[in-house]
Amino acid sequence: MKLNENFSALSESYLFATVAQKSAAYAEAHPDKKVIKLSIGDVTLPLAPAVIAAMHAAVDEMGRKETFRGYPPYEGYEFLRESIAGYYARRGINVPAADIFVSDGAKSDCGNLPELFDRDNLVLVPDPVYPVYVDTNLMAGRKIVYAAAAKENGFLPMPDESVKADVIYLCSPNNPTGAAYTKEQLQKWVDYANARDAVILYDAAYECFVQDGAARSIYEAKGAEKCAIEMCSFSKTAGFTGTRCGYTVVPSALVRGGVSLKEMWFRRQSTKFNGVSYVVQRGAAAVFTEEGQRQVSDNLAYYRENARIIADCMDGCGIFYTGGKNSPYIWLKCPDGMKSWEFFDYLLNEAQVVGTPGSGFGKNGEGFFRLTAFGDRDNTKEACERLYKLLKK
Ligand code: PLP
Repeated sequence: MKLNENFSALSESYLFATVAQKSAAYAEAHPDKKVIKLSIGDVTLPLAPAVIAAMHAAVDEMGRKETFRGYPPYEGYEFLRESIAGYYARRGINVPAADIFVSDGAKSDCGNLPELFDRDNLVLVPDPVYPVYVDTNLMAGRKIVYAAAAKENGFLPMPDESVKADVIYLCSPNNPTGAAYTKEQLQKWVDYANARDAVILYDAAYECFVQDGAARSIYEAKGAEKCAIEMCSFSKTAGFTGTRCGYTVVPSALVRGGVSLKEMWFRRQSTKFNGVSYVVQRGAAAVFTEEGQRQVSDNLAYYRENARIIADCMDGCGIFYTGGKNSPYIWLKCPDGMKSWEFFDYLLNEAQVVGTPGSGFGKNGEGFFRLTAFGDRDNTKEACERLYKLLKK
């Protein structure tokens, strides 16, 4: 037998796994030191009370014969798809419930959507970006070209007519840079994709963090329903990283070579995926109630305040950074020309603070570093005090 040789094109381990291993090894060797993690983008606040109440009620329903439910619909329960459609509608965006697919999170959908496309397509990925887009396409043996996101273009690459991309990944607000496209910028990507029959895979996992008028959905751009699939998640919006729920929009109008991508996706999901549990979907639907929205926005305000504390610290240290306004991430330039992993080791050894090396997000991330605002407030403050002491010029 032959194994999938494409795995040899991958880096040895997934970025966040390496970060976790290194910090665990340090903690084991120095049990007297308190290590503070501002690395992986995991949330720390508990689920909102409205979500918990809805999930408790759903558990009770599952415990009674008259209200028990078995397999959920592959594409999600109607009540949740309608709530998501309503969430779009309140922002003036028309996404019918029928085009929404509920899933166990945006990571799975990111990883699975490429199955809709032939291996020979040219895939365009911003650099730096969430590593899942690159790794999943490498596993499938696809050719990838990169769109450089750097200080010079505000970390927002725009279409290059000389690049003939077929599948285009966009992540806005971006992980790790925090840069977010405006509606006008997205329009240029949509026009480029429609002109070339390409498909955009738009990751909106951080849309709820946008606060300066940047776009929150690719469907704000005209004609996007003819070229774009949008992935979103309850992970960052409502703290569902451990509960697992997300959704993907595949518009009915998205057709290539006479074939509906929505039908292909339904075929794929109904073959390989058995849906998200009723209890979790009831919890997710509660996020969109008035009470749920108020509670999750309190949590977002907490994380935004953490971002402000980290940004203030960087200002005090005279370190260049971006992000932290439309996203929970601060993307900073490593001081004194240090490389990303060099700076990682320096912070771990000298301040016992763990961040994520920018080089793990792509070649253009080298020399940069990501800190997350998803931490606990006291830990964030303590980490910033240590960083200030170490890095202040
Ligand atoms: N997309 C981006 C850009 C992310 O940063 C993350 C998680 O960090 C995800 C998707 C994963 O989301 P989920 O928890 O819904 O799988």
